Amino acid sequence: MTDGRRTGPMRWMKGMMLKHMPLMITCAEFESFILAYLEDELPARERAVFDFHLKICRECRDYLAAYRRTVEVGKKTFEDPAAAVPDAVPEDLIKAVLAARRT
Ligand SMILES: [Zn+2]
Repeated sequence: MTDGRRTGPMRWMKGMMLKHMPLMITCAEFESFILAYLEDELPARERAVFDFHLKICRECRDYLAAYRRTVEVGKKTFEDPAAAVPDAVPEDLIKAVLAARRT
């Protein structure tokens, strides 16, 4: 007897957890909160949910760190167009993170 539900049990577990636990959001939802979070515009409840996801999800921690760096670099460049772009522009990192998250 075959059991179709055994396909990708870990992925399935994570999906179920994220869907059914009250403080859980999916990584996609997390992503959609990032901008508001960085702008400090998240209501307290959303912020708590966001922080919680950040605690349990290493991928999103890395993603947020990369995102934050990119925003900072972008802001600096915008505020002072004459400023040299730092060597550490994490564009490749962002691309790598985005690519990794699509799999
Ligand atoms: Zn996540």
